[in-house]
Amino acid sequence: MRDIPVASGGSGIRHLYLLLAGGAITYALLNTVLLASLIGDFASRGAVKTAALGLFFAAGFVGVMFGLSVLPPILQIVLRVAMTVSVTINFTLYLVSQMPVTRPTVSWLQAELGHGFAALQEFGGYILASLAAAVALTALLAVLQGRAHRWLQHHGRPWAAVWVPRCGVALLAAVPASAGLASMAWPAFAAQAESNLYAFGALTALYKSPASAAVTALPIRRPASEKIVLVVDESIRPDVFLQKIGRRHESDMVMFENGWSTANCSASSNALLRWGVRRNDIGKPHDPRSNTTIWTYALAAGFKTVMIDGQSAAKPQNFMRPAELAQIDEFVPMKSGVDTDLQVAQLLLKRLAIPGKEFIYINKRGAHFPYDANLPPVLQRLSATRQDKYEAAVAYSTGRFFDTLLSNEGGLDRATIFYTSDHGQYLGRGGTHCRGQHAQEYEVPIAVLGAQSDFLNAVRTASRCWSGGTSHQNMRTSVIESFGYARADLEGELFPALTTCVDQPVVPRFNGTLPFPASSSEVIPFSMEPARGTVPSTDATS
Ligand SMILES: [Zn+2]
Repeated sequence: MRDIPVASGGSGIRHLYLLLAGGAITYALLNTVLLASLIGDFASRGAVKTAALGLFFAAGFVGVMFGLSVLPPILQIVLRVAMTVSVTINFTLYLVSQMPVTRPTVSWLQAELGHGFAALQEFGGYILASLAAAVALTALLAVLQGRAHRWLQHHGRPWAAVWVPRCGVALLAAVPASAGLASMAWPAFAAQAESNLYAFGALTALYKSPASAAVTALPIRRPASEKIVLVVDESIRPDVFLQKIGRRHESDMVMFENGWSTANCSASSNALLRWGVRRNDIGKPHDPRSNTTIWTYALAAGFKTVMIDGQSAAKPQNFMRPAELAQIDEFVPMKSGVDTDLQVAQLLLKRLAIPGKEFIYINKRGAHFPYDANLPPVLQRLSATRQDKYEAAVAYSTGRFFDTLLSNEGGLDRATIFYTSDHGQYLGRGGTHCRGQHAQEYEVPIAVLGAQSDFLNAVRTASRCWSGGTSHQNMRTSVIESFGYARADLEGELFPALTTCVDQPVVPRFNGTLPFPASSSEVIPFSMEPARGTVPSTDATS
């Protein structure tokens, strides 16, 4: 205290003003994203919401500036560390994908936690820079807070010395709590960086989750085969798939050109393959979790349901709720290093050899960034370009998967296999997917292979006349069709199946982080996007 050059009267209060100004600037820097939303886009937000955000920001500042310093030292340390962690996530998320931390992005971060270590490796530089900035700013704020608090105790009016810290503590507790409430009414609400991770994290635990629907019509014919398999690869581009795998196995599979995933992130994409998108719901408030799941269709058709997850060592992921997990007869976590995909192919061949109706959903390891992590050390080349590393990872993981699967004469005699990737891959600078700025994030391979059957013949015939784009949702309808359902029964609400000639100029696309709402009035950001001519092939490697 003695080192602060305060005098009584006017020059003393000026010192407090300087501390407050310094604190406000530091706090504003911590909350850059929130402030940007306060300043920008005024027209679509309106005066009342802007004023509310301004008040919210001011309340947060008073809480942090005057509330923290009176708490017990151990609690102060815990809160300052928690604050630094939250601010680091805010900065990192913004640097990597220009997204603010909102209620949907926190739920999405939780769902993508399985890729957390990969993100740590790929975006280590961004994370370190964010951490350094967060530590520096929170430390500076701690110094300014301490000095302002001591000024108040030594030079402030007696009532202020008592009541300002009390109000500060109250605001410190109230602001994060009200962030949750505000977010329920306004999902894109941006709360203070120092607490939003926790406020929204707590909120996700309170989500109400609707029951999924039953089937409306039963299967009318025999399934396409005893085993129906849906292989969802990870981060596979269609051009690299064709070059490294497709050409070599051209006679083994029916490939659809111009394939598009519904979402550009792993969790949303897998979830929307399982839950589906109903054509008439697009643009309207709805919850895709209330759709009939792919498991419901399989079970009603007499299939045993199996999920083999090459990206999980224990628990299911990608927005899987307990109620949905209960629809899966057998969950097989198979994450086991760079040879995961090879082992998945071997296990699949064994299962295909045993008679009995099974629907097997596979999450492959594929080629998620960092690409070197999908290669054994002898194949890792530090000096290789991003594109070269990526191609090597695809060849190693997915190439060996197909080589194994197709090496065995008669191995697929009981099977119809649908193959795609959860999303595509942008190989330019920054994030490779989950960003929404590049069409390549949605470009995926779509192929069907397996035993000769009327179903596969219909797919082959249709592939020759199919034009426009082919969506994950078309493939999903076909997976369900292959269980034995009538196409006409499905196409009433779902997208057309792959067994018929379709000219589809637009495909459904989800461009957000969370594929389900928190309130009944929220409209999930699905749109119908042009399916051709959107991506000049030359910028693939830009
Ligand atoms: Zn993915």
